[in-house]
Amino acid sequence: MTTTHDTTTTDGTTTETERPARRGLFRRTRHSGPDQPLTDAEAQALAARVPHDPIPLDPNDLACAECGRVVAGPFDLAAVRYAEPSGVELAGGVLSASTAGLPAEPLTTCPKCAARGGVAADLAGRLLPGGVAIGGLHYTGEHVARLVRSSLVVIDVLGVRPPDPDHLTRDVLGLMVRRLASPGSALAWSHRFAPTRAADAQPGTANPRPWAHVRESARSGLRRAYADLMADRLSLSAPPVALAPPPIAPRDLPPGAQPLTSGCLLCGVATVARPALAVARDGGREAAARRVWTARPPVGPGPLGGRPSAARLVGYTCPTCTEALDHAGAVGPSAMERSLTRSLGVGGKWTEGADALGGLVGFGALAADALRAGTPAPQPNTAPWAHVPNLDAIAHALTGRG
Ligand SMILES: [Zn+2]
Ligand SMILES: [Zn+2]
Repeated sequence: MTTTHDTTTTDGTTTETERPARRGLFRRTRHSGPDQPLTDAEAQALAARVPHDPIPLDPNDLACAECGRVVAGPFDLAAVRYAEPSGVELAGGVLSASTAGLPAEPLTTCPKCAARGGVAADLAGRLLPGGVAIGGLHYTGEHVARLVRSSLVVIDVLGVRPPDPDHLTRDVLGLMVRRLASPGSALAWSHRFAPTRAADAQPGTANPRPWAHVRESARSGLRRAYADLMADRLSLSAPPVALAPPPIAPRDLPPGAQPLTSGCLLCGVATVARPALAVARDGGREAAARRVWTARPPVGPGPLGGRPSAARLVGYTCPTCTEALDHAGAVGPSAMERSLTRSLGVGGKWTEGADALGGLVGFGALAADALRAGTPAPQPNTAPWAHVPNLDAIAHALTGRG
């Protein structure tokens, strides 16, 4: 008795057609690793065994505009819409703009696709009422519902488990729409007839089964998009990633300069936390660290509040200190004071306690001192400016609670 889920039987047939329904992004699994949709090889083997040529419609019936399945008529006029071709694709990809002899194709919507549209409108209104930004464009209102519907189409075509509307969150729906809406937007059966009629689209036909017209090449693209979505979703619920400054290659060091990569040159903080999803999108830890940490030209200890010397450090600043440097224009007391007050959350209302900030020393100056003295490098800080001995007193002075 085997405990594995081997789907191949002794006569060479498989039960793979049943596999997609058991797989799914939206089961409430924890971090046990993602299930994969069918591999391309599995799907091609499956497609080769399943008929997909359109079938002729009985006179009373119509094809579903989305999945293309046969919907039994007769129909109220309100249930029929017409896909009107403005041209026809000829063999070889050439487009003929002639519409002579190109009748509009009557289509309807099957109950399952109608229900999907209802779920999409509900999810869009409930979870994304403020719209969603994709690729620099901001979508609102019924456009969001359309994007959600396209995403749900991909899930239906792939045969993976659809999301449970009651457990879907705004964040997951946002990921879903960003990954799936675009590949799902052109899958409808109606696209075979409008705006241009595909070369192989025959009027008065329907799919032998839903989505049979979606070619294998398109399906492999959908599987890739879905795999990306699963990776996104795992990252979404993963804990934030603490990013240390990236390494500095020796060839990137100016002559005589010393690298400082243990912490921020100014505040000395050792790591910056970033959402796991952002780290994944950046392409991993080092790439994400290079976005978060800003490389600095060589700086001496003097501008950092230390004893002036010929030592030159090359390192990075954290986002808070980078903003402070951009604001102040150069490494010096102003930039360090701004960073410290921001870190303490008292930015902009600290003029009364400003005297407390006199003699502020940046982390890089401590490192330069250690280099000169030949002592071990100072440990970086778990919190910004923690190396400042009287930090608590400064905080009290700045907040007026001293
Ligand atoms: Zn349908
Ligand atoms: Zn910093």
